[in-house]
Amino acid sequence: MTVSAHASSIDLVETARRASARPSAFQGIDIPSYEDTINCMHCGLCLPHCPTFSLTQLERHSPRGRIRLIKSIADGQLDVTPAFAETMSFCLLCRACETACPAGVKYGELAEAARAQIETSGVLRSPRRSFVRWLFFRQIFPRPWALRLLGKATWLHLHLGRPLLRGTGLIRLLPKRLQRLEALTPAVAWRPGRALMREVNRPEGTPRARAGLLEGCLMDITFAQEQYDTMAVLRHSGCEVVMPRGQVCCGSLLGHCGDLEQARRQAKRNIEVFERAQIDALVINSAGCGSFLREYGHLLHGEPAWAERAARFAAKVRDVCEFLVELGPKPPSVPLAARITYHEACHLVHGQRVSGAPRQLLQMIPGLEWVELPEATWCCGSAGIYNITNTADSMKFLARKMDNIERVAPGIIATGNPGCMVQIRAGCEQRGLRARVAHPISLLREAYGLPPRD
Ligand code: SF4
Ligand code: SF4
Repeated sequence: MTVSAHASSIDLVETARRASARPSAFQGIDIPSYEDTINCMHCGLCLPHCPTFSLTQLERHSPRGRIRLIKSIADGQLDVTPAFAETMSFCLLCRACETACPAGVKYGELAEAARAQIETSGVLRSPRRSFVRWLFFRQIFPRPWALRLLGKATWLHLHLGRPLLRGTGLIRLLPKRLQRLEALTPAVAWRPGRALMREVNRPEGTPRARAGLLEGCLMDITFAQEQYDTMAVLRHSGCEVVMPRGQVCCGSLLGHCGDLEQARRQAKRNIEVFERAQIDALVINSAGCGSFLREYGHLLHGEPAWAERAARFAAKVRDVCEFLVELGPKPPSVPLAARITYHEACHLVHGQRVSGAPRQLLQMIPGLEWVELPEATWCCGSAGIYNITNTADSMKFLARKMDNIERVAPGIIATGNPGCMVQIRAGCEQRGLRARVAHPISLLREAYGLPPRD
């Protein structure tokens, strides 16, 4: 949204506020766009696409119901209450409703602003919750060294703590919720992704583009191989790959959890760093990050000193498969003999409208037997940190995804988002499935005959 459109949405909120019996409970700068709430014509076409509505069949758990609640608060008819917070935190932010909506309602932006309002209102505040948010959102995520320390601690748990807990049976003494969370602990490498590449990595052959790579948070500590694979495939495709120092986590998890203030700080840092790197494109291998980075323009639209720079930055963001297809991919020649299916990460298919490019690249790999996944675009329940904050519900969405996966019995499940990979791997383990869960870029590296990292 432009600065003037934002101003007009605030005007509309003001008009509504004056007309209502009580003032709107929304405050500060992250006010849900009133225009978007009135653009919703209550047609209900989004309802069959909404995973939370499909689970409960309750209107307040549908996109239409949530938009209605947001509008009622803007109109001063309702307050921001714990019940409203529950309704919004039950939402996966999968944005399937946006794809389905004929009116182009930007539900994702509405929901993020609503979550920011919930935090501002303090209806969920407790000392424990405030401490956890401060620790992760304000201390760990903005600091790459702190994230790496967390990665090392996770590695130690997986290699020492987990065998001890499982071997002795002590794991069964943990509360059920902790047991479920422990099972979701992602595999981490001792060396993070950043340690596997230089700041500037020369292309193979004639240079075709200068591609920036995001260090990320989860990608750096738990998907170091996929980071390396991205760099290797881009170099093989003729790109100079730059991973500039000084960058930070994109802020998507913070934005989804209502800390837009901290997300803006991190966005500004990344804009500065990548402007200096003079890249042609910022190439992203994590759907959640890519989707949020493309929204930097919206995130900073209210700050005149940053709005234009943020919009320029956002215009350079590309999903890695999308980028390779635009560049003109080299044909892979090493066969991978397996039956493969593809799960569409929500923030790729709905958040970035990228669906054809990963399929096109995977279908170029010789030897793969392609099988379509039923409900491929239905959320797997990972949804950022939803599987941590709403574990029981997340497992219900995962069960539906795994039922569909079992139906097509693949040897490989490809997907372009780290959260989905962790979630579906956990689902495979629960069901005793031996399928490999892989990022398309890793399969492409193998099919190009490029070696894995040292
Ligand atoms: S983002 Fe997903 S879960 Fe939330 S309302 Fe839209 S479709 Fe439903
Ligand atoms: S499809 Fe769009 S316009 Fe229709 S109810 Fe859903 S959000 Fe509103």
